[in-house]
Amino acid sequence: MSTLAVSPILAAPGGSFLLEARAPVEVFTPEDLNEEQRQIAATAAQFASDEILPATRAIEAKEPDAVRGLIRKLAALGFTSVEIPEQHGGMGMDKITAALITDRLSVQASFSTALGAQIGIGTLPLVWYGTQEQKSRYLPKLASGEWVGAYALSEASSGSDAMNIRASARLSQDGSHYILDGEKMWITNGGIADLFTVFAKIVETGSGPHADTGKFSAFLIERTAPGLKIGAEEHKMGIRGSSTCPLVLDHCKVPAANLLGEPGKGHHIAFNVLNIGRLKLAVACVGGARHALGHAIRYAKERVAFGKPIAEFGLIQRKISTCAARLYAAESMCYRTVGMIDAALAQLPDDHSPRETQQRIEEYAVECSILKVYGSEALSLVADELVQVMGGYGFVEEYPAERIYRDARINRIFEGTNEINRMIITGWLMKRAMNGQLPLLPAIKKLMDEVTQPPSFDSASEGGEVLAGESAILAAARKIALFAAGVASQRYMAALQDQQEVMADLADIIIEVYALESALLRARKLAASGKNLSPPVSAAASMTGLLADETISRAEQGARRILAACAEGDLLRTHLAILRRLAKFTPADTVALSRSVARHCIQLERYPL
Ligand SMILES: Cc1cc2nc3c(=O)[nH]c(=O)nc-3n(C[C@H](O)[C@H](O)[C@H](O)COP(=O)(O)OP(=O)(O)OC[C@H]3O[C@@H](n4cnc5c(N)ncnc54)[C@H](O)[C@@H]3O)c2cc1C
Repeated sequence: MSTLAVSPILAAPGGSFLLEARAPVEVFTPEDLNEEQRQIAATAAQFASDEILPATRAIEAKEPDAVRGLIRKLAALGFTSVEIPEQHGGMGMDKITAALITDRLSVQASFSTALGAQIGIGTLPLVWYGTQEQKSRYLPKLASGEWVGAYALSEASSGSDAMNIRASARLSQDGSHYILDGEKMWITNGGIADLFTVFAKIVETGSGPHADTGKFSAFLIERTAPGLKIGAEEHKMGIRGSSTCPLVLDHCKVPAANLLGEPGKGHHIAFNVLNIGRLKLAVACVGGARHALGHAIRYAKERVAFGKPIAEFGLIQRKISTCAARLYAAESMCYRTVGMIDAALAQLPDDHSPRETQQRIEEYAVECSILKVYGSEALSLVADELVQVMGGYGFVEEYPAERIYRDARINRIFEGTNEINRMIITGWLMKRAMNGQLPLLPAIKKLMDEVTQPPSFDSASEGGEVLAGESAILAAARKIALFAAGVASQRYMAALQDQQEVMADLADIIIEVYALESALLRARKLAASGKNLSPPVSAAASMTGLLADETISRAEQGARRILAACAEGDLLRTHLAILRRLAKFTPADTVALSRSVARHCIQLERYPL
């Protein structure tokens, strides 16, 4: 943390990327990792290849102790306790290091899901909201890997609609304990966990069997609690080696001292932990995508068809470069975001409370949702292309591609489905704009005034700077986002919330802006490092070129749909003319860019950064 206190990394306000351009020095990139962090990353990567990958068969067969055994070994390295404060047996490290460990360990999705539940959503509610007594009792056990943690929010009838849970809790007559009734569904680590963070609504004694109303609250429930029953393992499409079980709470008796946080405030616990959960999920997707892309590249080099390695075919090269570019954007966004979080945390006083930590993270809720959507979709693409590059071999169980493809699918469903996260992205930004917390409305008004004037033809004239064309596209994409948001909010005002298709199209443009800006700033920072001709610098520049091309066409396409949903006749024609002007760019030679990226990947036999 001390390195960050003097670093120029900016704790920019959440969502401000949509309004303000940043300088490369203001964002954290993986190239900024210090020596200690690099060593930790190398140790984690070594553990992944020496211990996790060889255990794949045992993990997938759910052999007793396969997952727990690995968690214990990781605990011995301190890797399960990076975010647990030192006074409770943890390492209390910065979020960048925590993300880095997750990234490098994420080569086997069943295990990374189990680990994510253990060190993320299964532990952080206690770190942030637990009393000293609760922390002293449970955190050392979770830190050492002696105990496994789980987080139980979802129910059969409420997943996305999480506020609608029906599990109930009633305080006993003598006030000594709560009695919980209901059931939880899809609980990761359910079959192996020792401690569950369970959400239920506190209701008056004597009220009906289900808690339709009541105070949404969180409870720490030990596996041995009377009345807690663990249901049978689900048979899943993917991540089959991770445990997923329902829980039955049948008059489950929980000491009153195990209420976590305040009665009626459990939704803060449930949702705030999901911000970091989404960030971690995206980081795990980055690790998984890097691993999968490595497989695809090495296979393409080895497989010969029509007398030459398939890696020499342009269409295979295009797959490799598209995957590499998306991975590059996802990776750049993840480390940029976690860098902002650490910079924000570094501003807190030494004696800050865990709650303050959580509040600083909440500032970046929109970035966390963006990462979740982009990261999970990038991994899906890479997994799909890995199968395709491997042809028939990609489709059979004998090779890892088949499992990687199945495993990738869940990431678009849990930690808030990608539909829900798209709604969060636009909804959160609009809400902040309305509250005056983010000057989005003045920016929209300024842009609307500007675009209705005759064109000044100065938008692409940022000559001289590195990647000037890509910078101009970024500036245009930002304007398109503001323009589309302006038209949509003028048309629907507060009712925009009900126009989900428009909200999602806006979210996609906003995601593209964050992705391209993160990629561009990193490429420019790399270029400024003075190693202009090295493969990473040149690959980063070419990948940014590919991303810029995707961004402008996706932004234009999404905005066209939004405009057509918001206006008709002459007004629509005027809007479309403005959009055409904003999106007018001579296309880059993406064939050349793609070949250049693929050449680096093939030469290095991996993702080039
Ligand atoms: C393997 C696995 C592990 C899991 N681990 C955990 C865990 O550890 N703890 C836990 O609490 N939960 C866990 N979950 C549950 C997971 O978080 C939910 O499955 C997820 O939130 C979706 O909820 P649902 O399944 O009820 O789907 P639904 O909410 O019914 O959604 C169904 C579809 O409708 C869409 N939809 C729903 N509402 C809206 C809306 N307002 N607007 C637009 N579209 C909408 C969704 O995007 C989705 O496409 C896990 C699930 C799985 C499969």
